[in-house]
Amino acid sequence: MRLSRYFLPVLKENPSEAQIVSHRLMLRAGMIKQASAGIYSWLPLGFKVLRKIENIVHEEQQRAGHMPMLMPTIQSADLWRESGRYDAYGAEMLRFKDRHERDMLFTPTAEELITDIFRAHVGSYKDLPMTMYQIQWKFRDEIRPRFGVMRGREFFMKDGYNFDLTKEDALHAYNRHLVSYLRTYERMGLQAIPMRADSGPIGGDDTHEFLVLAETGESEVFYDSAVTDLSFGDREIDYDDHAQCAGVMEEFTNLYARTDETHDEALFNAIPEERRRIARGIEVGQIFYFGTKYSDALNAVVQGPDGKQVPVHMGSHGIGVSRLLGAIIEASHDDKGIIWPEGVTPYHCGIVNLKQGDAEEDGACDALYQSLTALGLEPLYDDRNERAGGKFATMDLIGLPWRITVGPRGLKNGVVELTSRRTGQSEELPPEEAVKRVAGIYAAL
Ligand code: ATP
Ligand code: MG
Repeated sequence: MRLSRYFLPVLKENPSEAQIVSHRLMLRAGMIKQASAGIYSWLPLGFKVLRKIENIVHEEQQRAGHMPMLMPTIQSADLWRESGRYDAYGAEMLRFKDRHERDMLFTPTAEELITDIFRAHVGSYKDLPMTMYQIQWKFRDEIRPRFGVMRGREFFMKDGYNFDLTKEDALHAYNRHLVSYLRTYERMGLQAIPMRADSGPIGGDDTHEFLVLAETGESEVFYDSAVTDLSFGDREIDYDDHAQCAGVMEEFTNLYARTDETHDEALFNAIPEERRRIARGIEVGQIFYFGTKYSDALNAVVQGPDGKQVPVHMGSHGIGVSRLLGAIIEASHDDKGIIWPEGVTPYHCGIVNLKQGDAEEDGACDALYQSLTALGLEPLYDDRNERAGGKFATMDLIGLPWRITVGPRGLKNGVVELTSRRTGQSEELPPEEAVKRVAGIYAAL
């Protein structure tokens, strides 16, 4: 992409409505624009990152054997009356009537609808286990939407639902989700710690939230600092292997880590004092096992091996896809702007031309652009007639992890400058070496 043809409405001033750094930087980098309270348009740069995050979630869900599907955003109130949640959900549910005076709502989550699909089509234990998920817009009429995409009213969420014959199988689905979530967040360059939590209006006993530690987080968290040493890394996992998934669950949840809702002072105080931490975190996902709560209410039964009809065991599992942009920026920025982890960066590499309009310079930049593109990478080329300072400031603000700078002095010596956004360190290299270096970094992901 050439910046001269791109829509990147960068703001020079700090927008006064933004209270936290991720909101400020998303507005300043021209990623989003508020349409009304808690509702945003996604401008090209923001949309590109949203899609990258969405793709990682899709890939990891399907790697775990979960089936993508899509349910509507607008639902009829009838199913929600059947489950009893139409009244229970309260003011967060956006309700309205269609022209026939039927009660409709904008989906805040979809346990009822998926259970209705299941009960209509699945009758035998032989079709189980089954897990389906969607990545779809949700609406919750939050009393205090704030912090940009972090607490929106409209937000993009992955919601998945498992159907199993037995509690044991459903707990395996729970563990499998935990494992796949660990992989998902690590690919985005994030450490998200599973913490025992409270189930809220979804219901059920077993639930973990995934929290990214950040001072601006809305949740108070209590944990043993040893949990921050854990990482999933690139280990191989067989998602059908119950014992292996249970082992990962055990490894990542046996140390104390809880949100304030489930915090237990006595257990916390049993941690060696130097490892006790009280901090704040951003909830980027949650997994639930709730047994037969919805299958009982909606009569979702299957015929078991013994011929008897039994309600299915279920769980649901969410990832805050749009919130993740905010969480990643909170975890990865400096005073100049965003620093995207390679896994989610909107463009792989910036190209800055210090002498736009000079035939030799323009030619060198075009050649770099083509080489990077030919290797399957997406460069963002700042080909505007701007002074160098302005170009660098824009690149730093939008946070591409790598930048190649082409200037007249270097070109004379046959080199360009490759700069890491994270460390600020630069190196002079022949252009083809710089391209190889950048390609190698992404190939290793
Ligand atoms: P919160 O406690 O932050 O209100 P929640 O527990 O009600 O969230 P879940 O039902 O667990 O939310 O939804 C799954 C995920 O969707 C959450 O972990 C979070 O990352 C994201 N999410 C929930 N509400 C919002 C929101 N208003 N704006 C953006 N993302 C949200
Ligand atoms: Mg939650």
